[in-house]
Order: sequence, then C-alpha cells, then structure tokens
Amino acid sequence: MKTQRITTRIPLYLQILIGMLVGIIVGLAAIHLGGEQVIHNWIAPWGKLFIRLLQVIAVPLIFVTLVKGVTGLQDMGRFSRLGGRTLLLYLIFISAAVAFGIGMGAVVKPGSLVDSGAAARISEKYQSEIADKALRAAEMQHEGPLRFLDDIVPANITLSFTDNSKTLQVIFFAIFFACAALILPREKIRPVADFFDALNEIILRMVGWIIALAPVGVAALMAELVASFGGNGSIFAALALYALTVALALLIIMYVFYPIVIRFMSPLRTSEFVKAMYPVQLFAFTTSSSAVTLPVTMDAVENKLGVSKEVSSFVLPVGVTINMDGTSCYQAIATLFIAQALGVDLGWMQIVTILLMTILSSIGTPGIPGGSYVILAMVLTSVGIPPEGLALIIGLDRPLDMLRTAVNVTGDAVVACMIHKQTDPGNKP
Ligand code: ASP
Repeated sequence: MKTQRITTRIPLYLQILIGMLVGIIVGLAAIHLGGEQVIHNWIAPWGKLFIRLLQVIAVPLIFVTLVKGVTGLQDMGRFSRLGGRTLLLYLIFISAAVAFGIGMGAVVKPGSLVDSGAAARISEKYQSEIADKALRAAEMQHEGPLRFLDDIVPANITLSFTDNSKTLQVIFFAIFFACAALILPREKIRPVADFFDALNEIILRMVGWIIALAPVGVAALMAELVASFGGNGSIFAALALYALTVALALLIIMYVFYPIVIRFMSPLRTSEFVKAMYPVQLFAFTTSSSAVTLPVTMDAVENKLGVSKEVSSFVLPVGVTINMDGTSCYQAIATLFIAQALGVDLGWMQIVTILLMTILSSIGTPGIPGGSYVILAMVLTSVGIPPEGLALIIGLDRPLDMLRTAVNVTGDAVVACMIHKQTDPGNKP
C-alpha cells in the first residue's frame, strides 16, 4: 500500500516530530508576521479535527478493548484458579503506578515552569471550558466523599455514551457487561464474542488511520499553541522537565520497584530476572508495542525464568491488555502536566477522578504504539482539561512510549513469576 511505503520510509514518530517542528516554525513565523488570525482561521481547525477524531474513537476503543480483555479470561475453571489472583496483582500494580505518577507530577510540577503570563493567555483561550468545569469541581467538593460513585454508575447508559465527560460510566458498563459474558458458557455468548473480535479489528484499523494523521494534526495544534503562547520559550523548558519526570518515574518502576518485588516475592535472584528480561525490554523499547512483544515475553518467562506454560499462557496475554504500569504512570504525569501548563486548578475530587480514570483507562489501552494518547484525550476531557493540551506532549510521545512499553512488559513478567511461585511453591522458577 502506498501509505505503508511512505511510513516505512519515514517512521511515524519521526513524521510526528517533523510535524511538531513545522508547527513551531509556522507559529513563530505567524507571530513575527502578525498572522495569528490566519493560524486561527486556517490552521487551527485541522488540529481540532485531529483531536475530535481521537475523541470519537476513544469510547468505542476502550469499550471494545475492555470487553475483549475481560472475556478473554475465558473458561472459568482456569479463571477461578489463576484469574482472581492475577487480576488482583495487576490492579495493585497499576494503582501503585498511577499513585506514584500523580505523586511525581505533583512534586516535580513540570507544568509550573510555564510562565504565568503564557499560561494565562492559554487559559483565557479555553476560558469557558475551564470555567465550566471549575464550577462543577467546586460543587463536587461539597458533595461528600462518596460522590464519585455517582460518576461511575450511570442511571442511563445511552446518555453516558453521548457525553465525553462520562467515560468512567462507559468503562463501568463495559466491565459489568464483560463479567456477565465471562460467567456464561462460551457457546451461549459465542456470537457476541465473535462480534467483539471483529469490532476490535475494525476499531484498531480506524485507530491506525487516526494515528497516521498525527503528523498533520500535531503540526496544526503546535502552530496554534505557539501562536497563543506568543512565542514564549518557557513551554520548552517545561516540556523538557516533563519528559525527564516521566523517564525518571518509569526507570524507578523498572529498576527499583520491580527488582524489589522480585527479590522478596519470587524465588528468583534479581540479577537473573534483569538478565532474562533485558532482551524483552529492548524488543518492547524498539517496537513500542506490548502486543507485538508478547511472544518474546512468553519465551523469556517460560524458558529463562522457568515459569510454567499454564501460568504464562494465561497471565501474559491478559497482562498485555490489562496490566500497563508504564502507561498508567505516564498518563497520570501527562494529565497533571497539561493541567499545570494550561493553568487548570485541580481539586481533590478531580485528582480522585484522574486516579480512577487512569487506572481503568490504562486497562483499556491497546498495546500498540501511541495507544495511550488516544485514551489520554478521553481522560483529559473527563476531568475538564481541554484535550487540545495534548498538542504539548504528542511530539515527545515516541521516546516515552518506548520506555513505558518496556515497563509494561516487565510488569507482566513480574506478575507471572509471582503467580508461578504461588501456584507451584515447590516448582522454583
Ligand atoms: N505502546 C504501549 C504498549 O504497547 C501503549 C501506550 O502506552 O501507548 O504497551
């Protein structure tokens, strides 16, 4: 295919980076030539279109990925033996990663490097959107600690599907639906399972097309952003600190947190684990896809770490969709960064929403390159942060994606080793 040939010539992440640079140059030129209005009228709409495409696909994507992920747990015999423990461990790991990400974002505050004048200009631009949400957030602070339950359980699911800020409710419904499908005999739900398999293929193809448009979308968004920042350079310093914060957080998870877990909760030696996982991490790093890395992860976990096939063939494929520690930590930092850069104040209720949304949405993130920024647009909208803020970080996404994918696959392997130890205590991996 022609587009494929073009993408192999210039890899997508380079195209995105070029798009970002072109956008910055166009934005700066517009400031010098007084062409901000041209940017506003003729270029900005293309960026908005790209964001809309991300938003339109996010809900179907997360719905289908979640249903497929949960129903993929398949026959209950296997599920009850390994499933409960595996899911619990995955949930604990993801929650820890998100909480750590929120902590890092709140302590380092990379977005606060953005000059207050520039941040004010930006927030003025999105004033009505931000003010609306700020009002809602202020109301929420007075609604009691269990108020967030209302945000999770809808009274009418069709209304949730039509409101981008209600995605948490869609996620709840998807998990509820998938659990019911999981309990029923396979033959009974086969048509629905086949339908979701096919739907998943179609939606992933649509996601691929949208991601392929990223270079143009990023160029337009960046041009507009630079023009609105009035060429203020503080944004670049903030971006550099943001990238460093994400990289540091991911490296801590990979080289401090996982080794500690391996050391104390598996019979393996840390050095053994690190050595066996190194090629897998490298593979994940270069492909940026935990799904593509799955066979390599399986091979290392079974043949080098000695985990039984029964455990690895269940824990790892489930982990590819459900367990994304790198992605969830990244999403938390990115959300806080964009909020800080755009001058959006987040109340504690919004922080709780970010926590829940990030945990659940990283479960629904496909293990493909750039999978999480499609989902990030949705997380941002649900807490009232203008999704256009994504423009700030997309240009830098690829290297961070490489790193978070390496973390994602390592997390799956750690859990596989832990489950193996619990199921076969005599059978030392
Ligand atoms: N690329 C990641 C993965 O495949 C997903 C993401 O965070 O974008 O695991």
